[in-house]
Amino acid sequence: MRALAVCGLLLTCILAPTVQAQQPDLTQEHWYHTYATLTVDVNAWADDYPDIVDLTVAGQTELGRNLWVVRISDWSNDTKPDGSLKDIVYIDGGHHGNEHLGTELAFLTAEHYIEGWAAKDPEVVRVLTTTEIHVLVMLNADGNDINTRWNINQVDLNRNYDHHWNEHDETQPGSGPFSEAETLANSIYMNTVVPRADLYVTMHTGVWIMLYPWGIVPEQPIDWELFHGIREEVHANISSIPIQNANQGLYPNSGTSRDYGYGIMGFPTFTFETDDEQWLPGSLESLTSRLGEELDVMEYLISNVWYWRARLTVDALALTGDMLTAQVTNHGMATTANASLEYLDETGEVQWASPLFTVNATNATSVSFSFDQTILSSNGVWNLNYQKRIINSAMWVNETQLDVALDSESTNDDRFLTGFGVFNPFSVVVSFIGVSVVLDRRNRDALHVNDAEEPQQA
Ligand SMILES: [Zn+2]
Repeated sequence: MRALAVCGLLLTCILAPTVQAQQPDLTQEHWYHTYATLTVDVNAWADDYPDIVDLTVAGQTELGRNLWVVRISDWSNDTKPDGSLKDIVYIDGGHHGNEHLGTELAFLTAEHYIEGWAAKDPEVVRVLTTTEIHVLVMLNADGNDINTRWNINQVDLNRNYDHHWNEHDETQPGSGPFSEAETLANSIYMNTVVPRADLYVTMHTGVWIMLYPWGIVPEQPIDWELFHGIREEVHANISSIPIQNANQGLYPNSGTSRDYGYGIMGFPTFTFETDDEQWLPGSLESLTSRLGEELDVMEYLISNVWYWRARLTVDALALTGDMLTAQVTNHGMATTANASLEYLDETGEVQWASPLFTVNATNATSVSFSFDQTILSSNGVWNLNYQKRIINSAMWVNETQLDVALDSESTNDDRFLTGFGVFNPFSVVVSFIGVSVVLDRRNRDALHVNDAEEPQQA
């Protein structure tokens, strides 16, 4: 088996100069990448598609090989057409050097968007004008080229992350968290380049399954609604691939990039395991055909990345006497548990902040607070401050509500909340009346916290 694999890898090396990244051929479609062929292909992409491919390195392996990151977006604009920040997707492959099919899924995902752009595929164009896709194709290049799970120090890189490191007495987790160059570089890339990501997929080979957190404990993650919502949509429309929490779907594990990505970075994270063998040097069936269903799932996850967080807007604000009522809609598929409405004066100073409130995934909520209207000023603004997801590590967002509609019909004393008013720095927070679900955007019962069968667990 090993002799066959090495033979195949050598053959791939010999064929490397003929590889054309931009046009699938027999070599690329049937032989797994070596570090050498990957280097040729990603550089060919960067040369051929400079408008959308920004090639960089996240660091080096223990043996000094580059950790190539293919960054794909319409780089002619730093933002979406409406001026807002682009969504960010992070993908890595090849933690385990003998899991070639998973590495190829990372490569093919990048290729789909690059070649789709070249072909003017409308959905690919839409995605690349609104999204940055960062793909670190082969994390364990040293292990890949000798067809071994471990890195060159005989460490399991997917047990080497600084999240409950080695709590399950793992096999070869390294001498300590981030003892290995590959995992340390990956974590630095996550923390410094893509900390805003709203999707992280780490690709492996073995059992055909998608695993969401946790590996460390059997409990469902606190953002279970998001993961279950994705599972429902994948199963209804795309694939019957099992989607489970890792601890129960596979086995308990600790120090994985998945648990780190969710627990430390706050990303919605999946381990994507492609099917079966870990030893053949190539695939009889073409890789794009063999991984077609997996690519469909990846396209769904990437196309809809906008939904993988809470996305609140204030749709209406009404002041009745000293009661302020806000209609808040969550357009995203993740619940947020600590939102607050803020009023800022013209200098940007927060003059008032509401008590914290929850807005469930894909719901709208009416919240009422006592409010002293004498703090209103002519150029004040309303902000929403909240976490993207419930997990403690989720990123906070603070967004000005520019389009909020104002309601003054209720009583004679009502007043519009912008445009006039006497500024007074006195601020007051008196009471929080309540939260009620009034609308379910997608009308899907399973996403209602109130209706859910499973309790939220830490
Ligand atoms: Zn693996």
